Amino acid sequence: MPQISTAPPTDITGLDLAELTAHVETLGFPAFRARQIWRWVWRHGLTRFDDMTDLGKETRQTLAQHLSITRPSISTRQQSRDGTIKWLLRFGDGHEAECVYIPESTRGTLCISSQIGCTLTCPFCHTGTQRLVRNLSTGEITGQVLIAMDALGEWPATQHGRRLTNIVLMGMGEPLYNYDNVAKAMHIIMSNEGIGISKRRITLSTSGIVPEIARTGTELGVNLAISLHASTDALRDILVPINRKYPLDMLIEACRAYPALSNARRITWEYVMLDGINDSDADARALLQRIQGIPSKINLIPFNPWPNSPYQCAAPERIENFAKIVMKAGYASPVRTPRGDDILAACGQLKTASQRPPKRQLA
Ligand code: SAH
Ligand code: SF4
Repeated sequence: MPQISTAPPTDITGLDLAELTAHVETLGFPAFRARQIWRWVWRHGLTRFDDMTDLGKETRQTLAQHLSITRPSISTRQQSRDGTIKWLLRFGDGHEAECVYIPESTRGTLCISSQIGCTLTCPFCHTGTQRLVRNLSTGEITGQVLIAMDALGEWPATQHGRRLTNIVLMGMGEPLYNYDNVAKAMHIIMSNEGIGISKRRITLSTSGIVPEIARTGTELGVNLAISLHASTDALRDILVPINRKYPLDMLIEACRAYPALSNARRITWEYVMLDGINDSDADARALLQRIQGIPSKINLIPFNPWPNSPYQCAAPERIENFAKIVMKAGYASPVRTPRGDDILAACGQLKTASQRPPKRQLA
């Protein structure tokens, strides 16, 4: 007999298959029901147990009493002139985070957030001006993918010509400071019985949280992108302040040892081009020197300004010269074209109005 409980329904978009199975069994159903539900949710995008046609009516009712299939609500949706779509999503407690879909000719990339705000304070990053409000839960991370799948008409996930082919963890927050929730969300998204995005099509960007790098490789096997931005500790201490804790030598060694690294699976080095700060020819050569011997891609990101940002983008000819030096060393087309910058959806422009209450209000 199904058990009776007065607890609020558990949102299953944050559960992996083992956890879903445990919940389903607690309700008195056999384990295989979990797999049926899983396919409905992650392959077909259903949001109501009542639409799960291979479950009996009573089963569906019991499930709906105890479990929910939640989506974040959409506060705003903006579409850029280049086709980029930015959603501001609102979660159960009213806090908000952004996610961005970037269409390209043969694929499409969803840029998702891992935290509301960020504990780190990289001075060129808009998110860095917003204090950390909280980590996103597993369901709030998978929820961003579900919202994009819904909007793009991607169900069933097995259909040909899918438009959401890649995921980058490059939105708000530092994913390696929310490792457990990020890892579980990525396992759910990678499941072949669901959305089935391969680890080769997922890239996690980190400011360099060295102690978490090895297990990101062994447990997730996703591509790694490092927000490098400077090739000396003196400058990186300023641009990416976590460098004071995990300096360049340590970071580069962790990357050199990254599991699953090969010529086909390279580290991406992100390098934001700041006028007069890190954009000289000597800086380009220092960058090449730093990453020597590591299978690498270099991603030069023109700085995207935001209101009152303290830096300016490097001049186009500087970026061009820098890129030439990098290309001469064998790295292909390294400059990232800003996408969605007319709607503040480009790298580093994401910020929401969610604020952590001042300490005295918490007391
Ligand atoms: N916290 C993680 C992931 C989010 S930031 C990290 O720092 O890697 C995603 C990328 O955008 C990072 O490489 C970041 O350095 C870059 N970025 C931040 N602000 C930017 C800006 N204003 N212009 C261009 N890139 C920026
Ligand atoms: Fe945080 Fe990344 Fe922005 Fe730095 S660049 S403040 S780590 S989101």
